[in-house]
Amino acid sequence: MALHGGALRLNLLFNSRSLYKLTSLAGVRPLSEHASAKPATFKPSDTTADHLIYTQEHFALKESLRKLIDQEINPYVDKWEAERTFPAHKIFKILGNAGFLGVSKPVEFGGLGLDFSYSVAVAEELGNIRCGGIPMAIGVQSDMATPALARFGSDQLKKEFLLPSILGDKVACLGVSEVGAGSDVSSIMTKAVRKGDEYVINGGKMWTTNGTQADWMCLLANTSDGPPHKNKSLICLPMNLPGVHIARKIDKMGMWSSDTAEVFFDDVHVPCKNVIGQEGLGFTYQMLQFQEERLWAVANVLTTMDSIIQETIGYTRQRKIFKQPVLYHQTVHFRLAELQTEVELLRSLLYRATAMYIKGNDVTKLASMAKLKAGRLARELSDSCLQFWGGMGYTSDVLVSRFYRDSRLISIGAGADEVMLGIICKYMDTLPKK
Ligand SMILES: Cc1cc2nc3c(=O)[nH]c(=O)nc-3n(C[C@H](O)[C@H](O)[C@H](O)COP(=O)(O)OP(=O)(O)OC[C@H]3O[C@@H](n4cnc5c(N)ncnc54)[C@H](O)[C@@H]3O)c2cc1C
Repeated sequence: MALHGGALRLNLLFNSRSLYKLTSLAGVRPLSEHASAKPATFKPSDTTADHLIYTQEHFALKESLRKLIDQEINPYVDKWEAERTFPAHKIFKILGNAGFLGVSKPVEFGGLGLDFSYSVAVAEELGNIRCGGIPMAIGVQSDMATPALARFGSDQLKKEFLLPSILGDKVACLGVSEVGAGSDVSSIMTKAVRKGDEYVINGGKMWTTNGTQADWMCLLANTSDGPPHKNKSLICLPMNLPGVHIARKIDKMGMWSSDTAEVFFDDVHVPCKNVIGQEGLGFTYQMLQFQEERLWAVANVLTTMDSIIQETIGYTRQRKIFKQPVLYHQTVHFRLAELQTEVELLRSLLYRATAMYIKGNDVTKLASMAKLKAGRLARELSDSCLQFWGGMGYTSDVLVSRFYRDSRLISIGAGADEVMLGIICKYMDTLPKK
């Protein structure tokens, strides 16, 4: 496996050289041109050579992922949105073959062995997929269900679950939320009771992304009756075991391409060796895993926000009202400028948090702030931009209306805004003492 991952990585880095030359020639302009009366078309700051966290290799990675998205994913998104699901096994295999499902995972288990900034770069590029559901499904596989396994799992478990997930041979899902416990993760009820060398699992999970298609679940369950932060474990649960029932596929207001399941466990027997790391530390591992999930989500939505602003500029520039383009009304171009400013501020926070994270710092506070801001900005931005499209914005034909529906999830999933505020307050030491 080392050979596979290493070869892939070298290949990627080698290819990046020639790709990067093109990027840098296109991206760096003489000062006089920047200062010309006619402003250049907006180019996101990530095309320059002096990037805060990205190197030539990040840009090369992004560029090759963009090609894959344009060829293998975007042409089919409308169909998959209409079908309310997408072929996860097929798409993950394509992404896995190209190395995109484990850029920051260990080389010996199929990953590229790069740092987390590469995951952020991949998440940003996945924001070019023309819906929210497919990037979310990919993110669950690459950065939400697998970080704890990669960091704390035994080699045996990594071989059985991580390696095939990185190669795109197995689809993963994350089972934390339940019918009665979402924001308050500590109150989950699913139990894994030790009987000899096995756990017997009873309970259920709600809102499981990839749930109807997944081969295995990174399951959070209570493995003892101890205090709620010390009685939980993360367990690799094969989804084809007797007693695992997919109760239903949930119908949602957005994220249509992504399947979301409710799952029940009825006396499911799993070997105790399937526990990730140490029994009883599952809550802690999950909280750590959330940091990557939240940074990933922020990176992913930033690109879509750029696209929505650009498409709104394009539409309002050609659409005339009262004898002039919609865009020329000051309220419109000023609002778009304000929104782009907010996007750039969020991008700076993301890069700062990422830079600190890859140096080994705890970035819980910054990641929570970024996630909070991403959810709120996505709501503001999608609402403002949709307004400028008039009736067209209210149709299903345009990206802005899909984004309006899809991005509403950011303030709810992976910890609601109020949960983020609670974490930030904890770090600010402003929570009332109990
Ligand atoms: C499309 C989709 C996909 C998802 N995918 C997954 C997945 O793959 N795996 C998984 O485990 N989970 C998943 N989730 C679950 C998601 O993480 C939860 O919905 C989320 O954590 C909120 O939990 P809840 O829905 O139970 O809301 P509740 O916990 O009932 O909270 C309701 C509301 O209460 C408010 N609130 C929360 N805390 C506070 C507070 N401290 N103070 C004041 N108000 C507060 C918030 O506004 C919150 O929205 C998904 C959800 C959706 C909708």
